Amino acid sequence: MKIMIKNGRIQQNKQDEIIFEDKDIVIENDIITGIFDKNEIHNQAFDKVIDAKSCIVMPGLVNAHLHSSDHFNKGGFDNLPLELWVLYLRPIFSGFNHTPDEIYLRTLLGSIEMIRTGTTSVIDDVVQFPALDEKNLDMIFKGYEKAGIRAAITSHLINKPLYKTIPFLDEYLNEELKEKLTINYASENEMLAYVEQNIHKYNKQGAVQTYALAPSGPQRCSIELMAGLKNLSEKYNLPVISHVLETKVQEVTAKEFYNMTMVEYLNEHHLLYPNLNLVHSVWVSDHDIELMKEHNSKVLHNPTSNLKLGSGIAPIKSFLDNGISVGLGTDNTSSNDSLNMFELMKITGLIHKVQDHHYDKWIGAQDALKMATIGGAECALKEDELGTIEVNKKADLIILETENHRFIPNNNYVNQVVFCENGSSVKTVLINGEVVMEDKIIKTFDEEEVLEEVKGVMSKVFEERNLSYKQAELIFDELKKVYFKSNEIYY
Ligand SMILES: [Zn+2]
Repeated sequence: MKIMIKNGRIQQNKQDEIIFEDKDIVIENDIITGIFDKNEIHNQAFDKVIDAKSCIVMPGLVNAHLHSSDHFNKGGFDNLPLELWVLYLRPIFSGFNHTPDEIYLRTLLGSIEMIRTGTTSVIDDVVQFPALDEKNLDMIFKGYEKAGIRAAITSHLINKPLYKTIPFLDEYLNEELKEKLTINYASENEMLAYVEQNIHKYNKQGAVQTYALAPSGPQRCSIELMAGLKNLSEKYNLPVISHVLETKVQEVTAKEFYNMTMVEYLNEHHLLYPNLNLVHSVWVSDHDIELMKEHNSKVLHNPTSNLKLGSGIAPIKSFLDNGISVGLGTDNTSSNDSLNMFELMKITGLIHKVQDHHYDKWIGAQDALKMATIGGAECALKEDELGTIEVNKKADLIILETENHRFIPNNNYVNQVVFCENGSSVKTVLINGEVVMEDKIIKTFDEEEVLEEVKGVMSKVFEERNLSYKQAELIFDELKKVYFKSNEIYY
């Protein structure tokens, strides 16, 4: 398949800044094979010509951190900090009970919003019960394959019970509740064997949906499990996703459990490395940042989720100044509550200005757009394939119309993409050279049908929500005590 995108204004990443230039793009199968000046292409036959007149063409956006397991919870909660909100996401003692068909549907529901708002690539950290369920995992791969979205999909691994991962909880909970929270985890060897088997199964040459690794967080996993996943990531060159220092409680967790910061704890066990993405990194110290720089680890920034759960604002400027790669993620659907990368870019371009009065050092639209594209690609270890529009890169492209109130008077495309656009101008989306949406119509599946089917399963989802509320009530007061106690401790 040979496609030309003509008459567009194309995003080009120059040394110091992103600019837009009038160019024509040639795509052969899944690859960008040519970028030409206007009227430079003659006597070539194309299977398809897309006229991008009055449009801008951007690299597809990379949502580098989300949990599709939470898609049915969109809009479900407000005004809860992480440690209390997490109790309601799923029945805390018995876990999710979504069927394979619901999991497939859930994945397509999220895909609608992502395609419509220009996300072409995701790192989806999937939480499921039991964690090692092949059939359920397979349905997520099938969902993204149907949607046509490029995805790195993980199995979110935990092998410690909740009360061993949060300070003070062990003493606050009675034995009966601890028993309820104790899950029979597979051994480290079984988990690592399962992960390696999935790497062989899914990560075939040229696969658009691939498997990645996710120890949930340092306090929730044994050293042996994290070390085993590090070895696999290095053996197969795969990104690793781990939640580190998202909240004040987690800062206290590290100090109480290990008498050092969580990043120092990782370093102590040789568990900081280039393939590791530290998700959130809100409560990091200057020394932590030095260690992250020294080991070339990466950061996944989730500002909307960090605001909604009251977690804090990560020191992103410091990461960037230290040459640390930063990608953007929407995080859980119910802690955002959208999967819209344009909203995320706007928030990223705004919130860091309040951290420092030195306005000449502020994070702005240029940085936000980079984090949403090439930054995310670096975190996914795909910077040679994704994140910019260049010859030999994958044809993951989005086309936005600009003859509308969001862009006119077209003062500055980068500023307007980040501060004025909300995703509604995204007209056409190509992923891996395939036209996934054209003229605002999703081509890969029936959007209306999916929405109808979701409505059909929600009564069962609400039943499960009721069970979540009942189970959460049993330990809510103890978690609340932990939350307030931790927030009153200063080191
Ligand atoms: Zn997360």
